Parts: sequence; C-alpha cells; structure tokens
Amino acid sequence: MSTESNIDPIRSYLLSPHYSLLVAHNVPFPPRGRNEAIALDSQSGYNKKLPHTTSKRHEDLMDTRKVYIETYGCQMNLADTELLLGLLKPHGYEPTQVAAQADVILLNTCAIREHAEEKVMRRLGNLVRYKAQRPGVLLGLMGCMAQHHREKLLDKAPFLDLVLGPDAYHNLPVLLAQEDKDEPLVAVRLDRDETYADISPVRAEGVRAWVTAMRGCDKFCTFCIVPYVRGRERSVPLDALLEQVRELAAQGYKEVVYLGQTVNAYHDGDCDFSDLLRRTAAIEGIERIRFTSPHPSDMSERVIEAMATCPKVAPYLHLPLQAASNRVLERMERGYTVEQYAALVERLRAAVPGLALSTDIIVGFPGEEEADFRATYDFMAEIRYDSAFMFKYSAREGTKAYKWGETLSEEEKGRRLQEIIALQERISGELNRQTIGQTVEVLVEGPAKRQKGWLAGKSGQFKTVVFPGNSARPGDLVPVLVVSATAHTLVGEARR
Ligand code: SAM
Ligand code: SF4
Repeated sequence: MSTESNIDPIRSYLLSPHYSLLVAHNVPFPPRGRNEAIALDSQSGYNKKLPHTTSKRHEDLMDTRKVYIETYGCQMNLADTELLLGLLKPHGYEPTQVAAQADVILLNTCAIREHAEEKVMRRLGNLVRYKAQRPGVLLGLMGCMAQHHREKLLDKAPFLDLVLGPDAYHNLPVLLAQEDKDEPLVAVRLDRDETYADISPVRAEGVRAWVTAMRGCDKFCTFCIVPYVRGRERSVPLDALLEQVRELAAQGYKEVVYLGQTVNAYHDGDCDFSDLLRRTAAIEGIERIRFTSPHPSDMSERVIEAMATCPKVAPYLHLPLQAASNRVLERMERGYTVEQYAALVERLRAAVPGLALSTDIIVGFPGEEEADFRATYDFMAEIRYDSAFMFKYSAREGTKAYKWGETLSEEEKGRRLQEIIALQERISGELNRQTIGQTVEVLVEGPAKRQKGWLAGKSGQFKTVVFPGNSARPGDLVPVLVVSATAHTLVGEARR
C-alpha cells in the first residue's frame, strides 16, 4: 500500500488538492510597486563555476549554474538578494532573470502582512512546475516568511528544498555543495552577531546603491513581526561600510541609501549615525546620501545637524508615524507621543529647508476608534507629507497585538484606508504643483518608462522627474525646470 511517506513528495504534492488550490489562484507576475516582487537584474562578469562540485545533477543540466531570485517586500530584502548573489558568486552561480533556466530558484520573502505571504504561496505553486520539468532544480524560500513559519512551511509546501532565515544565508553554499540533497534544508537560527560584513553584494546596475547599515530591530512595536523574524538590532562595522561605499563610488554609483529598520540607531563604538553620514559625505564620487527608515525616537540632534550641514545628505526623510492618536501609539508601543512627533517635524523643517517628508500609516489597529482614526487623518492634513505608504492593519501571529484580535471588519479598515489615500493623493498633487517654476537638481537614472526619448531621475526630495532627453547620461546631475506636475511625477525641461 502506498502511503504519504513512501511516495515522491513532489508527486504527492502535485496530486494533492492543495496544489490545485495554489495554481488556481495564481496571479500574473511580476507585479509592480514598492511592496511587490522585484526580479533582480543580472550582472556581467559573473560566470565562474563551482570549484568543488560534487553535484551530478547540476553538471547534467548545463555548464554554468544559475540562480533566480524573486524579491518581495522592502528594500532591505532587495539588499539581501544582492547579498545572497554575492555569497553565491565565488561558488560559481550566476544570476538569471528566467526561472525556467535556473538551477536554484529562490523567493526572498516578506512577513509584514498576511497578503504578502499569500502571494508567495501562490507563486510557489506556480514555480513548482520547474522541479517537475527538470529534476535537480532546487526551490527555496528565504527571508522573513521563511523565518516566520520555519518547519511548518514544509507541511504546506513539501516540495521545498530550502528554508533559509535572514541570518542563515551562509548555509546556502554548503548545502549546494552537498551531494545528497534529498532532505530539505531548514536553516532558521537567528544570530545576534551576523552582519554579513564579509560579503560583497552583487548589485543591480544603476546610479543608486542600497547599503545595509544595520540588521534586526529591538523596538518590538506590538503590531510588528520584524523583531521576531530578523532578530536583535546590530550594526555593520563603520569601516566595512565606508569601504563598501568607496568601492561603490569607484564603480560609478552616485547615490547610497543606508538601510536599517531603525537606521538612525546605528552605532559602532563611539560612532553614531551622524558620524556615518559625515564620513560618507567625505567620499569622493558619491553625490547623494539617503537613509531609510529612521525611527522618530532615535532622531538625535546630532543626526539632524548632520542632515542640515552635509550638502550631500538629501533633503528627504521617511519618518514613519503609524497613527496620530496617543491612545493608539501607546498600544502600539511606538515610544513617542503625537506631540513629540510634531515637535520633531518642526525641528527638522527648521534645520533642513525644503525638507520633503514621507511616512507609514496603519489604519484599523486593534481598538482604533473612529475618533482615533480622525486624529490620524487630521494630523496628516496638518503635516502635509509629500507622500505616504498606507496600510490596513494585518494581524501577525507571534506579535503582542495578535492576541488582542481584530476589532474592525475588513470593510471598515478599507474605508479608512481609502479616506487617507484620497487625502494624501490630494496633498501630494498640491505640493508637487507648488514646485512648478522652480529648478530642481535631478540625478538622471535612465530613460523614462512612458515617454519615448525622455529621461527620468529623482530630485533631492526624492520626487520622480521626467524631461525630454538631452545629452545627459545616467549618473549626471541636471538642473530641470518644473513645468507641470501630478501627485507622483514632476515634468520638466533640462536647463542645460
Ligand atoms: N522600522 C520602521 C519603523 O518602524 O519606523 C518600519 C519598518 S516596517 C518593515 C514597514 C512598515 O510596515 C511599518 O512602518 C508599518 O507601517 C507597516 N507594518 C508593519 N507591521 C504591520 C502590520 N502588522 N500590519 C500593517 N502594516 C504593518
Ligand atoms: Fe517593526 Fe517597530 Fe521595529 Fe519598525 S521599529 S521594524 S515597526 S518593531
């Protein structure tokens, strides 16, 4: 008699109702947007073979080994994908953008909201066909969702070969070099010292490089899964960061964006985040410095001073608010009141003229009353953010707020979300139209997506600017006169 345990797990999975459920719900891919999937560009000069190969199945398939990674979630995940490609490079793996050609297929995942996890499960159901078509292909899940669900993932997706948490990436080359890969590898130990400072990431081409300055988070906001899946806060050593940025400058990158869940809490010995900004500003070739996300409670006067006095630090700040009712902020355990946040914005705006601000907002947190929501709405109208990332609360198992249950229906959360989206859309449009007639400095990134022959780039305030192409090339700083604007884009004419 055939039992679950003695038939091939993929076959058993393909025959199971779960598989058809995943396939039936498959969506077009890849979608676009900040919290959506990003398939990384391949890089040139990355074609070495695995020196100590013991795996027959790879050799049977093709000469070089290829890895395909789809990235979900925030910029930190994108930076981790680049890190993983850097980790695999000395082992002979080159990136591919075509899943059908890959020997190793990885999804680098996000656990922030349930929706993001559901999307990944659907995508896995779609990718499993490559294992059936080409035996030997390894399929894995890495990142926050892998850490969040760990072994349980193998019940839902028994065909997975790899489950790698954010601190376990060093295990991957070891596994790939093993002859016997029949058992799935689950590596999910969090490591409070892991910074991957020894790895040189393989970056996407462009003018902007994302550099992870710190990993993990110690804040434990009651809604958030990050501290549980990314572990304790730790900073990459200052010298390693500066060395990385010098290399980036030598490779032609013009802008660095330092990343961390509470990036302004960065420290290495006596050096704090303001020292990192100042030392980076001294690196020749780097024209702009940005960072995300600073936490309001860690926004020291030293950091504000560095922003105000280093011309290379761009006049733009993403300062997550989450909610503007003290009752809700307290239950979220955010560590500030709305008055303290407002006073911080005032100090920042006084110190950095023309500062553009963006934020994160959650609606429908457990216990959020209509009056709390109105306070958030009114505060957003008063602060007038340049842009905002707005989310419906998503209960995450393992967090403190999860135990409180949901107090609002999906419909009510949706209504609140639509209200603030409409408000923000109006404000973003008004603020962008105020720039008409001004000249902004644009760091050119490349051709505009929609208008043929036009160029696109970002202003210092991190606004997308498009203008008819001239002789400017990616990486050039070009003065552009703004002639019209929408809520999302400034349209201009190059002044030279
Ligand atoms: N560390 C940043 C901070 O707190 O300032 C935020 C990082 S978090 C990865 C990005 C955003 O996701 C948060 O600012 C929050 O708005 C949103 N988020 C986190 N957990 C959420 C949840 N359970 N439901 C909805 N949105 C959530
Ligand atoms: Fe999550 Fe709060 Fe840490 Fe941000 S600061 S990552 S919201 S726990």
